[in-house]
Amino acid sequence: MQFDLENLSREDALVILNLPNTHLPELLSSVYEIRKKHKGNVVNVQLLTNAKSGNCTQNCAYCAQSHDSEADIDRYESISREQLLKDGAAISQQKLARHCIGFSGMSFSDGEITRFADDVRALKKENDTPICCSIGFLTKEQAQQLKDAGVDRINHNLNTSRNFYPQICSTHTYEERIANIKMLQSIGFEICCGGIIGLGETKEDVVDMLFEIKAIRPQAVPINFLIPVKGTALEQMDTSHLTPEFCLKALCLARIVRPEADIRAAAGRELYLKGREKEMFCVVDSIFASGYLTEAGQSLRDTMEMIREAGFSPCVE
Ligand code: SF4
Repeated sequence: MQFDLENLSREDALVILNLPNTHLPELLSSVYEIRKKHKGNVVNVQLLTNAKSGNCTQNCAYCAQSHDSEADIDRYESISREQLLKDGAAISQQKLARHCIGFSGMSFSDGEITRFADDVRALKKENDTPICCSIGFLTKEQAQQLKDAGVDRINHNLNTSRNFYPQICSTHTYEERIANIKMLQSIGFEICCGGIIGLGETKEDVVDMLFEIKAIRPQAVPINFLIPVKGTALEQMDTSHLTPEFCLKALCLARIVRPEADIRAAAGRELYLKGREKEMFCVVDSIFASGYLTEAGQSLRDTMEMIREAGFSPCVE
């Protein structure tokens, strides 16, 4: 297996995704060297607060919060500041790496952003846990307001390849996503940018998405594996190709194209990589505990135990 991992071509990236499973241990061992060089043996654990849930105007096919979704989820406009501060305090007490705060929706009123900026200032007064927000498309003025309030990083995923994007969303474009990320970078935000595998895309699409992400140079790359949620457009999606081996190869590619970034096994890790955590942590240095925006996940306690059992160290500052 001879690859120039530092300058991987698209052709070789595709070869990696198609690698016979017998070569996986060799790939994992090469990728572990990259992981160790940039991230040691530490695993960052993040918790997610869903600050605004459901009722989105957009039609992202995978999303339980989308306009077209009939998924049985909580729908609310805004959690209370009290709840946000409670989550922030719990994250700080556990000395976790980051507080991620998600908002459903494409755009936000200035009033909503001003209220959230005040929430961020209140959080930062209590503790200095880094804050990352997933918050649709902001105007430059709104983004600056959040930057001034203390938001450290913004998540804005590309989700899939440019070619495949119209198959999963028709209410906004790939270009709009890229333009939003560039605006956020221009005012100094760190960027978290990843995608979802299992939407019906080809392996070429997975490679194209990862090379788009490489060009953005995000500080974090969350890789989600589709959980076909009942009531969403993709509830019947066949995910039988999401074998642990395939998922591990996709994570390896993410590490190879962004060696120094936080590579996160996000939604779906509990479903598709259960029992393969040791191999997973040879590649990724970041995971969520306690679930995702609308899906339950592994508890924080079990997550910490799982990291230690796999021979890695949870990041405790
Ligand atoms: S992914 Fe975001 S923009 Fe798309 S439907 Fe879900 S909440 Fe709305």
